[in-house]
Amino acid sequence: MTPASTTVLITGCSSGIGLAAAVKFARQGCDVVATMRDLDRSAPLHVALHDAGASADIRVLDVADDDSVANGVAAIISDHDGIDVVISNAGIGIDGTTEELSIADFRASFETNVLGVVRLLHAAMPGWRSKGSGRLIAVSSVAGAIGQPFNDAYCMSKFGLEGLLESFAPVAAQFGVHVSVIEPGPVAGVFVDKSRGPQQQSSEGPYAGPRGRFQAVQDGAFDAAQTNEEIAEFLWGIATEDDPKLRYQTSELVQRMVGQKLKDMTGERLLAMTSRWV
Ligand code: NAP
Repeated sequence: MTPASTTVLITGCSSGIGLAAAVKFARQGCDVVATMRDLDRSAPLHVALHDAGASADIRVLDVADDDSVANGVAAIISDHDGIDVVISNAGIGIDGTTEELSIADFRASFETNVLGVVRLLHAAMPGWRSKGSGRLIAVSSVAGAIGQPFNDAYCMSKFGLEGLLESFAPVAAQFGVHVSVIEPGPVAGVFVDKSRGPQQQSSEGPYAGPRGRFQAVQDGAFDAAQTNEEIAEFLWGIATEDDPKLRYQTSELVQRMVGQKLKDMTGERLLAMTSRWV
């Protein structure tokens, strides 16, 4: 691709991976539209872009809101003469095991992490179909391939995202549209802290023991977390590949784990591992 003539829409750019990706793609010379649901949270992105000597069109886009995505993407297409690449990064975590979580928690997770991507595709696909090219790269997770204790709603949504895009990819390809997902393991930042609900503070109740044991495992895993910049670099690699694959793991550790999962037809080996975490 020729960066200067490539318009890249990125969601969830107020922090973390989205912010780092916006800076990376802008530094490479792309026409970046960096979006977030609340422009009051745009200061860190402004500072990072300034420090990098780069610029982006920063706009509001709430992926959980039908009108925000439909109207927002239509305006971007009109102002930027189309969109070439969408990086669907916005996502929320919801900590808890099923009995602790409300139906509203499950809905919220699905609304953002799955339907957010559906909304983006509804808005971008007509233009991509008519020009015969386009690219969606969605930030999934190792949680899109491997169920994890106390991540029931999050894993439900990321598995859903992967099912959605695995189903859509061969049809999209008929129209020259590439669809990819990336599966990071732990990435340093605010994501896990933001996902911890009130139940997380409780040191009592039936789930306190397994939760404490799982949290120790999770904290240990984050000692070897990747950085947002590493994931941004990874996204850049996919965006510039001529023939991108459907699914990428962003580290060797996740690649090994997902590889074992795919061979574990009965789920016994997986459950032996995840049972040890609680
Ligand atoms: P983060 O710093 O919390 O970033 C999440 C971003 O999504 C924030 O900008 C957040 O905006 C935004 N967002 C949430 N709901 C939104 C909505 N309805 N509309 C638009 N934006 C919304 O965490 P991150 O680690 O960079 O997460 C980015 C992606 O990576 C997520 O999809 C996550 O599932 C995935 N991931 C993260 C990890 C990890 O360990 N961190 C690992 C694997 C995958 P606000 O600032 O307004 O909340």
